[in-house]
Amino acid sequence: MHRRKIIAANWKMNKSISAAETFAREFSRRSDLADACDIVIIPPFFSVRPVADTLAGTQIHVGAQDLHWEASGAFTGEVSAAMLQDAGATYVIVGHSERRHLMGESDAVVAKKLAAALRASLIPILCVGETLAEREAGRQTGVVERQLTTAFEAVDERAAAPTVIAYEPVWAIGTGRTASAEDAVAMHRAIRDWMQTRFGETAAAVARIQYGGSVNPDNAAELLAREDIDGLLVGGASLDAGSFAAIAGAVPAA
Ligand code: PEP
Repeated sequence: MHRRKIIAANWKMNKSISAAETFAREFSRRSDLADACDIVIIPPFFSVRPVADTLAGTQIHVGAQDLHWEASGAFTGEVSAAMLQDAGATYVIVGHSERRHLMGESDAVVAKKLAAALRASLIPILCVGETLAEREAGRQTGVVERQLTTAFEAVDERAAAPTVIAYEPVWAIGTGRTASAEDAVAMHRAIRDWMQTRFGETAAAVARIQYGGSVNPDNAAELLAREDIDGLLVGGASLDAGSFAAIAGAVPAA
């Protein structure tokens, strides 16, 4: 089963609007990279529209880093799926570990956000992953399965289909410590097995599972060479257009 790889840039809380536009202008010169894979730029909320406008006419997608599950209302500081679409986003990250661990987002909240994104036809990038203590205790697969079980609890096979899953071991995010390709592959297989049990063989075969955690131009090719790794979610190394282009350029020819 051929799955098109997907390379996403999570800028987190970085870049002014003008710095975001400069990146998008520079990166649009490498829009040929989107022939070989799906590319998604995920800036802070206020730069979604400027980045989408700058990339208009290319095949490069724009996403957002979070959403609220309600459509509108008294939720100060929050942003809905419809607002993100209005700004030009087609993807949204759901359940990033920084939101789970720094902002206290529970599995149940992640589930509501996933359902809201899917209802609105935003493509969710659902992040799952264990902490270092959980890995050292040998609990990594159980933790990821629990996160998946809760996130997809109220979602049926058809609704779930567009979801991209990002396996991001918490201990590898922003630490310079990458999971070995073997460890990443083992977890990606466990995630695909879970998908098969929950949604069936076809859904599992087409589901795209990214790896994220200290990816850079030097380790991208080794990860992307693995059949089980369907793409990368990149934080720090995505802030520079040249570095992110080198990562996207490491996608092997289909
Ligand atoms: C991320 O933010 O999803 C991430 C993987 O960050 P980094 O690449 O900086 O580890």
